[in-house]
Amino acid sequence: MRRTEEKENDFLAGYSRTGASTIGECIADGRRVADAICTKDDGQWRREESIPFMDPEIRLQEISVKKGAIEAKPNPRCDYDPATFGATEKARCLECDFVCNKCVDVCPNRANIAVPVRGNPLFSDPFEIVHIDAYCNECGNCGHFCPWHTGVPYVDKPTVFSLKEDLHNSENPGWFVDEETLLVRFDGTVKTVSWDDARAAARGNGAEARFYALFLELYKQRPGLFGPVEPAVAGVPR
Ligand code: SF4
Ligand code: SF4
Repeated sequence: MRRTEEKENDFLAGYSRTGASTIGECIADGRRVADAICTKDDGQWRREESIPFMDPEIRLQEISVKKGAIEAKPNPRCDYDPATFGATEKARCLECDFVCNKCVDVCPNRANIAVPVRGNPLFSDPFEIVHIDAYCNECGNCGHFCPWHTGVPYVDKPTVFSLKEDLHNSENPGWFVDEETLLVRFDGTVKTVSWDDARAAARGNGAEARFYALFLELYKQRPGLFGPVEPAVAGVPR
């Protein structure tokens, strides 16, 4: 049962405060409690974190290896050496702050893809997530597993549509390509744009420039993802 009354110097964190949650939420809660205790002792206290610089290319390679080999050892309950345990935990951290892509890993239908955008100054992360409307059955997995809870990937992420009516029936930002036509929804507005307009927009700044730059990058890398498909016929798979 969750406790609701407040008691001075009692701090609840993780499951005891929220009920069943994720490990990430519990870790974040633990840090919030630690911050609250420090601030209670010293009103001027502020968390300071200095993250050592690491070459992004080397970091990317190391994270890729770790993502393929998640190991937890030693078990702190039977063989507790704080230094070894700390080193092991550090080594298996997946560094979701730099490369997350969790919504790609957990989608059973491969309906989210990570588009490499390294080198484009418009983007601060090495990958951008794009959603493929036609593959998604709206199971919700990607939203549940998103460690940042920044939204629901299958709703929020720029989306490739395979039918014009699918774009109109959705509220996702995204693109539909049909021969010479590029139909987009950006910031809630649907419009047809020319390829020249798209290229010009991608040379600008801010969210709109990123939206068009991501489209052009994906179109260059995976043109087969774009284009219309035959509308579904009941009982016949597309
Ligand atoms: S909601 Fe769609 S994109 Fe998300 S995990 Fe399910 S099928 Fe994949
Ligand atoms: S949408 Fe969520 S799960 Fe997907 S990459 Fe971004 S933070 Fe990770």
